[in-house]
Amino acid sequence: MKTFIWHGYTVQVTRKKVKNTNLRIKPAEPDIIHISIPYQMSYQAALAILEQPKMLKWVENYRKKLEHLPEKPAVQENERIKNIPAYQERLKEVLPPMFSKWEAALGVRSNKITIRDTRSQWGSCNPRTGNISISVWLGAFPDDCIEYVVVHELAHMLERGHNQRFYGILDQYYPKWRQCRQQLNEGTDGL
Ligand SMILES: [Zn+2]
Repeated sequence: MKTFIWHGYTVQVTRKKVKNTNLRIKPAEPDIIHISIPYQMSYQAALAILEQPKMLKWVENYRKKLEHLPEKPAVQENERIKNIPAYQERLKEVLPPMFSKWEAALGVRSNKITIRDTRSQWGSCNPRTGNISISVWLGAFPDDCIEYVVVHELAHMLERGHNQRFYGILDQYYPKWRQCRQQLNEGTDGL
């Protein structure tokens, strides 16, 4: 296997017993492009595939799609809309100690934390300003799910992208993050 860097992506080219070239991006590692090529093909020829006109656009769109999947609230909002004030209250209570704990652990500092009625993602972080926004809907989930989002957003202050390094940080500091992310995706909050 050979690894290349292409437009900020890690490209891993593997020679395999395949007839055609295969290109894949895994949801867990959206910044890695896996290419399998037949044994007789050169690594340079594999890279040439990436230079096709629409390839970069395709990869970027695809990656964006993957990137937004894990953080999308799957809550049934009409049922829960009346609970918004309660979620807000709960988050106001649990978030500050979580942020203090994880800022110390990761060695970063957030600036302004805002709780928002966002449906597109659980949280977001601007690594430049240190401003973090948390979805009010997160208040419907157990503490460890809320904590996962706190760690996730703070980890963006160490690594902007959802890449191998980013997931490495999560694995190191919050090993159960995958489980929490799954719970968030499924919306199984039990509340
Ligand atoms: Zn993220």
